[in-house]
Amino acid sequence: MSDTTIAARLLDVIERDILPLTEQGVGAGNKVFGAAILRKSDLSLVVAETNNELENPLWHGEVHTLKRFYELGEKLATKDLIFLSTHEPCTMCMSAITWAGFDNFYYFFSHEDSRDAFAIPHDLKILKEVFGLEPGGYRRQNAFWNSFAIADLVETEEDKVKADLKAQTVRIKARYDALSTDYQSSKGDNDIPLN
Ligand SMILES: [Zn+2]
Repeated sequence: MSDTTIAARLLDVIERDILPLTEQGVGAGNKVFGAAILRKSDLSLVVAETNNELENPLWHGEVHTLKRFYELGEKLATKDLIFLSTHEPCTMCMSAITWAGFDNFYYFFSHEDSRDAFAIPHDLKILKEVFGLEPGGYRRQNAFWNSFAIADLVETEEDKVKADLKAQTVRIKARYDALSTDYQSSKGDNDIPLN
C-alpha cells in the first residue's frame, strides 16, 4: 500500500470497511456516522466501527471506534496512528480523540454537511450554544492535533488520481444519501436524546 496516497487509502477504508458496518447500523436504527483507526506506517487498518447510539448515546462513530480500539488489547501508541472520521467530529468526539493522544484526524463530510445534507445540526448547535462558536470556529490546527478534510487532500492530487478519487467520492456520497434517507425515516421510532 506504500504507493497509495493517504486520501486514496482513507476513501477506500470508508467505502470498504466503514460503510458496510454503517449500512448494518442504520438498518438497526443508528445514525450514519462511522470511523476507523489506521497505522501511519503502512496505512493498514486497525479497527473500523460505526455509530451505536441505540446502545448508548455516547457511542458516536468515533467514540465507539475508540472503545473497540481499547478492547482490542493491542497497546498501539496513538501517536503512530491515524484517526479517520466519516463526518467532522462533534465536540465530544474531538475531545475524545484528543484525550486518547492522537495528533491528527481526517474527515470526509463537514459539520455543515451534517447539518445540511444529513439534517443533523447538533454538532454546530453544541459549538454555538456551549462554546459560543460559529461554524468553523474551533482551531483545526492546534497544539494537540492537525485536522484535515479529505476533499482538500484530493484537490492536491495529480489529475489522473484526482479524477478517480472524485468519482469515488461521488459513489460514497450516494451511499450516504441512501443511508440518511433511511435514518431520517426511522428516527421517529428511537429514543436517542439528540436524534
Ligand atoms: Zn461525536
